[in-house]
Amino acid sequence: MQKHLWYDATQIYIGGVWKSPAGGQQLPLQNPSNGQEIGSIARGTAPDIDEAVTAAQTALDGEWGRMSALERGRILTRIGQLVGTRLDDLAMIEAMDVGKPLTQAKNDAIALARYMEFYGGAADKIMGETIPYLDGYTVYTLREPHGVTGHIVPWNYPMQIIGRSVGAALAMGNACVLKPAEEACLTALAFVALAEEAGLPPGALNVVPGSGEEAGAALTAHPGVNHISFTGSVGVGKLVQKAAAENVVPVTLELGGKSPQIVFDDADLDAALPFLVGACIQNAGQTCSASSRILIQRGVYDELVARMGVSFDGMISAPAQMDANLGPLISARQKEIVTGYTESGNDLRIAGQGRVHDDAPDDGHYVAATLFADVPPDHKLAQEEIFGPIQVAIPFDTEEEAIAIANGTDFGLVASIWTKDGARQMRLAKSIRTGQVFINNYGAGGGVELPFGGTGKSGHGREKGFEALYGFSTLKTVAANHG
Ligand code: NAD
Repeated sequence: MQKHLWYDATQIYIGGVWKSPAGGQQLPLQNPSNGQEIGSIARGTAPDIDEAVTAAQTALDGEWGRMSALERGRILTRIGQLVGTRLDDLAMIEAMDVGKPLTQAKNDAIALARYMEFYGGAADKIMGETIPYLDGYTVYTLREPHGVTGHIVPWNYPMQIIGRSVGAALAMGNACVLKPAEEACLTALAFVALAEEAGLPPGALNVVPGSGEEAGAALTAHPGVNHISFTGSVGVGKLVQKAAAENVVPVTLELGGKSPQIVFDDADLDAALPFLVGACIQNAGQTCSASSRILIQRGVYDELVARMGVSFDGMISAPAQMDANLGPLISARQKEIVTGYTESGNDLRIAGQGRVHDDAPDDGHYVAATLFADVPPDHKLAQEEIFGPIQVAIPFDTEEEAIAIANGTDFGLVASIWTKDGARQMRLAKSIRTGQVFINNYGAGGGVELPFGGTGKSGHGREKGFEALYGFSTLKTVAANHG
């Protein structure tokens, strides 16, 4: 299968034109649910990236660069509406490409439409300010686009990450070059075809699939790129930041996490339970904001771990089309990594474990969701990002101990606090080193309106919400001496 509905998966999209990659080569496309090769995608390389950056610069010098913020917003809104008419198609494509259960894939498509709606509405609402200065002066600030923005996206939530990053960049008038992940680039191509249909001018968004080492590295090193938005692993994030430093351009890094949920004795356990488990097993644990550590105060520890264990026991991993709790992992390599982590917990107590569906193909990349209990906070399973459906339960006695454990990893992306004590909620919200804190809920990646990003090894810069519009723009100060 080469043709996917309304776009061609084997091509790249540059300057409003679908074309073959410069090197004429393809990369294999695999369905994680059965391990089968189901086609191929373009293998974009440095010459394609170069052409895409030139097309983006041309767009900035032309119709796109001159367009009013109001009109940019209208186009984004139309893109969102078109995405909204294709939710089931997009979900099917993502389910096949990423192995994501259909309902979860559809939620990603809904989020993509919502990002376009949000940033469409926001495009003409970012303003500068006037600044009181010396007598005889008028001083004001202008928010301007960076110019060409590079977007490197991972395979776990292609639609959501494209929505939050490309949506905000386009709203501010940047021209984008998007390099989706080689494991999952179909919805990026589907999306840009819809953007074209909605009237996005040529060159405003260019999509070049390809490997990280080739297309990704070429994009981050390109001297014509004025801002880089990267979502992915810590290791590649460091490479991207080094490349950006060479060209002295700003970079937003959205890296991994080891996000805790902290449950106190007075918490509403019935309300907490679905969030505690769901925030880990969603997308088979392949979520940067997965809540992989549950810190539980001793008074409710045994009861809550037992209840969570029952939930885990019921978790089924199955092909995406079966729309079970979990789909497969993205690749054989990811399965190997996650299985290694599960084995590293052989000395620990398993409080609950799901199973792989009997009908799941042997060549699919399935693992069982597993809850480990009584895990020491310094154990590998409690410290390292696993990117699989493995959760650890850690007991604590005091608030101080909970804060120390929560802050005791290299990461800081998301946290949640479950307690009815308002003062404690405020103290912990302040004390936990993280980009987002949820109180008596857990937002995971959701919340288009909510600024999102990390501290520590989770990265820096913020995407989502209005905050992203500041990140995707630069501030110019104008000081006029009129006497
Ligand atoms: P990855 O870092 O291997 O790949 C991410 C993207 O970077 C892909 O498009 C890849 O092609 C590209 N890439 C790879 N090498 C590159 C290079 N040398 N130069 C430029 N680009 C390169 O990550 P992954 O395995 O695809 O995704 C999993 C990781 O991403 C996890 O660690 C996860 O925590 C993180 N992640 C973070 C967030 C977030 O918002 N914080 C969201 C999703 C995923």
